[in-house]
Amino acid sequence: MAEKACPRCNIISFEDECPLCGYKTSNNWNGLVVILDPDDSDLAKELNITIPGRYALRVKEE
Ligand SMILES: [Zn+2]
Repeated sequence: MAEKACPRCNIISFEDECPLCGYKTSNNWNGLVVILDPDDSDLAKELNITIPGRYALRVKEE
């Protein structure tokens, strides 16, 4: 089963709906980043990530 990513908050999960915002997740994503400390990460700020986790760099809606 492929992992999916949320087009809104970029978080990666196996769910059909985003565990954070409930939006429909997409198979069309690439670039995996692991954010451990969002407060200390420029990338996290760029992607508007506030919760530690695994995120996609780019996500397109299906
Ligand atoms: Zn989301």
